[in-house]
Amino acid sequence: MTTHAPVADRLLGPHEPPRIELVRSPTPLHPAPRLSAELGVPVLFKRDDLTGLGLGGNKVRGLEYLIADALRQGCDCLVTGAGPQSNWTLLAALTALRYGIEPHVVCYGNPPPDEGNLRLHRWLGVDVRFTGAADRSTVDDGIAALAAELRATGRRPYVLPRGGATALGSLGYVRATIELAAQLDESGTEPAAVWLPTGSCGTHAGLLAGVAFAAAAFDVIGVTVSRPVAECRTRITTLAAAAAALVHGPEPAEPRVLGGCLGPGYGIPSPEGAAAALLVARAEGVFLDPVFGAKAMAGLVAECAAGRVTGPQVFLVTGGAPTLFTDRKGAS
Ligand SMILES: *Cc1c(COP(=O)(O)O)cnc(C)c1O
Repeated sequence: MTTHAPVADRLLGPHEPPRIELVRSPTPLHPAPRLSAELGVPVLFKRDDLTGLGLGGNKVRGLEYLIADALRQGCDCLVTGAGPQSNWTLLAALTALRYGIEPHVVCYGNPPPDEGNLRLHRWLGVDVRFTGAADRSTVDDGIAALAAELRATGRRPYVLPRGGATALGSLGYVRATIELAAQLDESGTEPAAVWLPTGSCGTHAGLLAGVAFAAAAFDVIGVTVSRPVAECRTRITTLAAAAAALVHGPEPAEPRVLGGCLGPGYGIPSPEGAAAALLVARAEGVFLDPVFGAKAMAGLVAECAAGRVTGPQVFLVTGGAPTLFTDRKGAS
């Protein structure tokens, strides 16, 4: 296999865009028996912390399509952004480097200590710039300005928004849903729902489009860890419809988003999340990151305690290991 050639398999049908192979798939699907006993419902983990690039994580799946698109367009550099502890920018930069594309990253705020994901960016030699403003949306202008600057010097930037949340990127989770549905079939499990942390919404959108595409019977429940529920619903609906349209798939269902688990704010650990992550680590030997996974698990724990959950549940472990080693998170 040559590393630059797009992969030929068309799991998503004749309209599937070009894709490079990054994910060591299928990622494991396994029961979490001690957690299940604790919660009173059967829980399985889908281990997308083990996608196999860097320290793993959900963002690798979308990058299969996004970087293939950058290569197809002949781009020589990548511009994206987020917070200084972003799992997204780290994995995007790592993939870009591997394919000979120079990564540039824009972060909101001012440079924090060199730890976690930021330390890895620096170590890799990635150009990281700071907007100097705490407002997360300053990243969007920063990305556009840096891309213009690069174009003016004759470069060809591939520009991606925070989280890589685009219809094309969401196809990674349409694919993941097909992978998951096959694993569930094989194990004879019919889950009621798949739970995940929802941030920039691309992952949730892909799962929702994937459920329609695969004619799967389970719900998708996203626990928002950054945006208000209504904003998530709008973003997910738009992204899922656009992802479905790309592969000529059926219309996705209405999104289900659970609020109330954000705690003190995006990127700031919550007491409920910390307790849920500790429960999972001690029961199952699996680490949930404090920004995303811990808060999503807190949502599942709370819903189980309230008696609102019945039947087997799949929890998508989305990665984020580098932020286990940081004081200030601010990841996305
Ligand atoms: C980005 C991220 C998410 C959320 O995915 P979105 O597609 O941005 O909603 C969840 N968990 C981890 C570890 C992430 O890095």
